[in-house]
Amino acid sequence: MDSTSNQFRMQNPLPQYPGPEFDRQPQKAPGLASEMSPKPDHGETSYRGFGRLEGRHALITGADSGIGRAVAIAFAREGADVALNYLPQEESDAREVVALIEEAGRKAVPLPGDISDESFCQQLVALSVDRLGGLDILVNVAGKQVSVDSIADLSTEQFEATFRTNVFAMFWLCKAALPHMPPGGTIINTTSIQSYQPSPHLLDYASTKGAITAFTHGLAKQVIDRGIRVNAVAPGPVWTPLQPSGGQSQEKVQQFGSEAPMKRPGQPAELAPIYVVLASQESSFVTGEVYGVTGGNHLP
Ligand code: NAD
Ligand code: MG
Repeated sequence: MDSTSNQFRMQNPLPQYPGPEFDRQPQKAPGLASEMSPKPDHGETSYRGFGRLEGRHALITGADSGIGRAVAIAFAREGADVALNYLPQEESDAREVVALIEEAGRKAVPLPGDISDESFCQQLVALSVDRLGGLDILVNVAGKQVSVDSIADLSTEQFEATFRTNVFAMFWLCKAALPHMPPGGTIINTTSIQSYQPSPHLLDYASTKGAITAFTHGLAKQVIDRGIRVNAVAPGPVWTPLQPSGGQSQEKVQQFGSEAPMKRPGQPAELAPIYVVLASQESSFVTGEVYGVTGGNHLP
């Protein structure tokens, strides 16, 4: 995607990236970026840093693939050292990200593990602080999404697992990270258009995104006295392994992005610049905010 991924050349955004129809491409959750067709653009060949996060220490969950990978690449090129969390099954994707961070001349600290476990979340923060030498930025990107058509088939186990991964982990990680964060520190959560316009087949997932939005607004008001800002990004459809690995039916994967006014899914590379601005001092008067990146299905 070298010719289309240039974020500095003015161009029509509609044909900038592929749109439907896509091939069916079932994967087992959590899925791998390396198995997707077409390959997602995480900014590998395009993201240019300007020193906006020079010397910062960042922990990013879900950093192996998708939006988290794009954020990790961008943060490293902006001068940050990065601790990356992901699931052990995603080691091959994560290795590619570690190599890109190191190519940018920054430190990469891979910390695989399951964030649906509270004690692991506490360890993850402690190890990040220790190995990075501090923690200035926490980016909660990891998420679980499993499509189920009817509430009758939605199990308590799935409902709970989705909440543990998307909501409880964010709570545990914020709670553990805040005591380490200096004034000027930032937290960025990942909510969704689903927080505002829930799809009928994503009942549990959309509910977690509603919770993430409310948590972001509330925590922002609580910690601003300490000079820490908390914001969220709300993506619309984005071309990542989350979707073909059970997040949508294969029929929906084939048409993915068609419901956005831009008639295509976004690429992870189109999300990363927003996380950069929210992490950096450039957004110093922005807190408790949700930034939509939706291809036109705007937030309310
Ligand atoms: P992705 O599959 O690339 O990333 C999700 C990551 O979550 C995985 O890579 C995995 O490392 C991590 N994860 C899942 N369960 C975990 C667990 N128990 N422990 C540790 N890590 C776990 O997909 P993505 O689309 O980049 O997803 C990133 C975020 O963006 C998610 O919060 C998702 O809800 C949100 N989002 C995605 C879309 C979209 O269309 N892709 C739209 C709106 C919001
Ligand atoms: Mg992944």
